[in-house]
Parts: sequence; C-alpha cells; structure tokens
Amino acid sequence: MKNVYDDLIKMIDKDRVRVDEPLKKYTFTKTGGNADYLVLPITYDEVQFVIRYALENQVPYTILGNGSNLIVRDGGIRGIVINLTQLNKIEILGTEIKVQSGATIIETSQKALSERLTGLEFACGIPGTVGGAVYMNAGAYGGEVSDVIKSALVIDKKGNILNLTKEQMGLEYRNSDIAKKDYLVLEATFDLKAGNYDEMKAKMDELTFLRESKQPLELPSCGSVFKRPPGMFAGKLIQDSNLQGKTIGGAQVSTKHAGFIVNIGDATATDYLNLIKHVQETVKANFDVELETEVKIIGEEVSSK
Ligand code: FAD
Repeated sequence: MKNVYDDLIKMIDKDRVRVDEPLKKYTFTKTGGNADYLVLPITYDEVQFVIRYALENQVPYTILGNGSNLIVRDGGIRGIVINLTQLNKIEILGTEIKVQSGATIIETSQKALSERLTGLEFACGIPGTVGGAVYMNAGAYGGEVSDVIKSALVIDKKGNILNLTKEQMGLEYRNSDIAKKDYLVLEATFDLKAGNYDEMKAKMDELTFLRESKQPLELPSCGSVFKRPPGMFAGKLIQDSNLQGKTIGGAQVSTKHAGFIVNIGDATATDYLNLIKHVQETVKANFDVELETEVKIIGEEVSSK
C-alpha cells in the first residue's frame, strides 16, 4: 500500500487526504485507533474514484458518517476510510427533500421544519448523517427512515452508481439490504407532506425534551448500544441486572439510561468492548436473553497492527 497516498492525491486535494489519522477525533465515543488513510471527498466522482481505486488495488475501504453509531477498535482501520461529511447539500423539491449522505439527519429535519414539510420530526435528535441513518434505518419515538424515504443513490461493491427505490433498500429494524450488501449511500430523497409549522415545532420540542431528560447527552457515547430484543427493552434488562454504574476503565454503563455506555474519562475502545461483553454475559445469565449490538464494531485489535 506504499503508493496509496500518491494515488489518492491525484484525484483528491492533499488537504482532504490524511495519513495515519486518529479516528477518535471522529467517533462520538472519542475512542478508536488510527486510519491508514482518511479521505474527505466533496463530489460523487471523488467517492466513486476512491471506491474503484480501492477495488482495483485490493485496498480495503470503510465508510464513515458522523461516527455516532461506531466503535473502532484500538488497532484502527487498515486501508482507506471514506468520510462523507463534506457531502452535505440539502435540496428542496416541492414536498421532497434530496439530501447528500453526509448532511446530518438533524439538519435535514430542521430544514424540513423551516419548509413546513412534515415526516422527519422523529429524527430531530438522531446525531448521525443521512447516509448512516439510511444504512441502519435509524428511528426514534415511533418513526423511522423507512416511513419517509423514497429513493437513494448508492455505490455498489463493483463501484457502480445505482438508484434504489425504497423497496430495493430492504429496510428493516435497524438494518437494511444496503448494510448487508455493503453499499455506500451517496444521497437520499425523502417524501414528505405539507405540515403545520407550530404542530411540527411542538412535536420536535417535546422529543428534544424527552431525549435530554432521559439520555446522558452531556457525556460521549454511541447512543443505544444494544438492539431491542423482541418484546423487551435492552435498557430494562440491563437495569434489572444492576449494571448501571458498572465501569471498566473509562467506560461506564450510564446511570441515567442503562442502554447507553458513556466515556467518563479516557476510555479506550477496548474498555467499551469489555464492558459490552460483560453486559451481554450478565443479561444472558440473568434472563437468558442474548443482547445483540446495535452499534457497529469495526477495525483491528491493537496487537494485530
Ligand atoms: P456512523 O456511526 O459513522 O456509521 C455507522 C455505520 O453506518 C457504519 O457501519 C458505517 O460504515 C455506515 N455508514 C455511515 N454512513 C454511510 C453511508 N453514507 N453509506 C453506507 N454506509 C454508511 N440511532 C437511532 O436509530 N435512533 C436514535 O434515537 C439514536 N439516538 C442516538 C443518540 C445519541 C446520543 C447517539 C450518540 C447516537 C444515537 N443513535 C440513534 C445512533 C446513530 O446516531 C444512528 O445510528 C445514525 O444513523 C448513525 O449515523 P452516522 O452517520 O453517525 O454513522
């Protein structure tokens, strides 16, 4: 991979190609090792170039949105990390909103509010990008991406750009065919309806109040660590296992919301992973329930670098 940097800067400005970049700068947990290369494309052509280059040269690539649903192991990520946050235009087309994948879903819901377009109120506190939200069908308070998405522009594993209808995305609870097939989301179009500003604003204020009163937003975290087991709440199982406050290194099961693990100091990704394992084992022993992680865990162990 000696010439990867030289190859990348043929297409992408030098100041948007980083070498040995610490990923803790980009993750909401403030943990994680370094990326061999991190690129910040500003056009779809640049994204496609990087993917085709990576595929042709057998260089692994990883997609990074806002880093709000990720734990990057302390050994970091080999190959190229594609950070999409510079692709962040939001365009209004009648009652539809076309958004580049690196815009945040919070900004998108605010834009919808200012345009009096209803449907995205549920997303007003989800701190990810639109690409990350589509990838895992993000949702909150009874709404989810699948309720409002119309289509998405993606890049497949051959480097081709495809326009997917909602049906082709296979959106399900915190998962999608986009995730299963490792597609990169470039852009999404949401189909909204004309709404009443005051009603929408009141709904968003209410959801923000609920979030701020229930979630430990004052500390770094990756949101809910575990998926909801069918018919149950992960947070309740963790709480009933007396795990709130359980601390490993700098990672702690939040005392405010048992489904969150917060970074109370200098947590490492290893602290997070050890605590996740401890929570899974304890809940399994107490309730015979396997907690599956909602957060994506990627990258390498320290020793393998
Ligand atoms: P990242 O964390 O950067 O990446 C997550 C995964 O998505 C990775 O596998 C990555 O490769 C992939 N990905 C990212 N962008 C793309 C793309 N453009 N194309 C293809 N793959 C991509 N989630 C909810 O659903 N509901 C909530 O209420 C909620 N509340 C949260 C509260 C807090 C305080 C925090 C920290 C997180 C919360 N989350 C919630 C989790 C998170 O915000 C969402 O999962 C969000 O959709 C992740 O987007 P991201 O851009 O941060 O993705």
